[in-house]
Amino acid sequence: MEKTAIEKSDLAELLWESREEGFTALEHEVIYRELCSGCGLCVSACPEDVIGFTEYPKLIGKCTNCGYCLMVCPRSFLPKNELEEKTFGSAPGGSGVIEGVYQVSSKDKGQDGGFVTALLKYLLGKGLIDGAVVSQIDSENPWKPLPKVATTAGEIEAAAGSRYSTSPNLSVLKEAKNSGLKKLAVVGTPCHIDGTAKLKHYPVEGAELAGVISTTVSVFCKSNFIYSMITDVVAGKEGIDLGKVTKMDIKGKHLLVYTGDAEKKVLLKDIHRYERLGCKICDDFTGRFSDFAVGSVDSPAGSSTVIVRTKEAAKVLKDMEKEGFIETSDVTDGDLPVLNKLTEIKKKRARKEAAAIIRSELPMPLKFLWE
Ligand code: SF4
Ligand code: SF4
Ligand code: SF4
Repeated sequence: MEKTAIEKSDLAELLWESREEGFTALEHEVIYRELCSGCGLCVSACPEDVIGFTEYPKLIGKCTNCGYCLMVCPRSFLPKNELEEKTFGSAPGGSGVIEGVYQVSSKDKGQDGGFVTALLKYLLGKGLIDGAVVSQIDSENPWKPLPKVATTAGEIEAAAGSRYSTSPNLSVLKEAKNSGLKKLAVVGTPCHIDGTAKLKHYPVEGAELAGVISTTVSVFCKSNFIYSMITDVVAGKEGIDLGKVTKMDIKGKHLLVYTGDAEKKVLLKDIHRYERLGCKICDDFTGRFSDFAVGSVDSPAGSSTVIVRTKEAAKVLKDMEKEGFIETSDVTDGDLPVLNKLTEIKKKRARKEAAAIIRSELPMPLKFLWE
């Protein structure tokens, strides 16, 4: 079989032999090693549509061993500096390439100032996108996120808010492409945006999914949880009626669960065991490959901290302000103590966890070198 563009790169070459084992290779290289972030990209990349997803990808049909799922997965290999250079023309590290940082408030509802909702509606209204990959709440499982391709302002508004469990957003990329959309915004956590960056610069020939993505929006992410955290702890141990929950948020040492004006605090240490295992080696807090990165840290309630990484993104932000959709104020690095601290904490933890994985895979006599 002739190698595709992605397979011809030096890094991917290392995976060439595993690739021919098909989905089994994805299981052994990524899923069983507890590296899967749950981004859902393998689902979209599979030409046979035989990858399903329930917390983790699983085979639901006959695999033809094409290897696309392994090659496209951002957790099989992700040369971050190289991808940053290809995406932005430079790779400064830290929180990634930054064109500008702003404190933004908008008129739209949504988590922490509603900026993501306002941005998507603005881009849609101006014809700069024709749809957006977002997550919405599953009507059958309260507070379980489900990926969705939103094509109207109403659908974008319905998707506002954070969910705190895995949503394989990139699993709907193929559906979006097949429905004829050509200018998609993808909203996700940094690991989703890793997938879009890898798709763009290491495209799997035949899948052609990268071409439909025009804008990426990352939400700041410290960690994420499997859905049973919601059912076991929030609904179970805490006895909160999920049907009445209006918002969830993570602040300091707590998961805050709101039912109307009432706030219930759940200690993060009580939900730690539900953390998605693939989050432990994640070193990216802001989404270093995103056009826009958005979160609440270092901004007052009702506002967002927004990082823009490209001149095009900065222009959109300024145009939104000129047209009265948002208000912005410039932020300097000194105004971002929490963001900088969380960025460093995440990198440090990822290095430690990665070292533990490397150590665990060493032959027995060598393991003791670390003790
Ligand atoms: S992409 Fe689909 S068909 Fe190809 S190896 Fe993976 S599971 Fe098998
Ligand atoms: S990280 Fe994404 S692409 Fe890789 S196995 Fe998990 S869901 Fe699939
Ligand atoms: S911590 Fe990393 S891997 Fe986990 S959800 Fe957030 S961005 Fe994804």
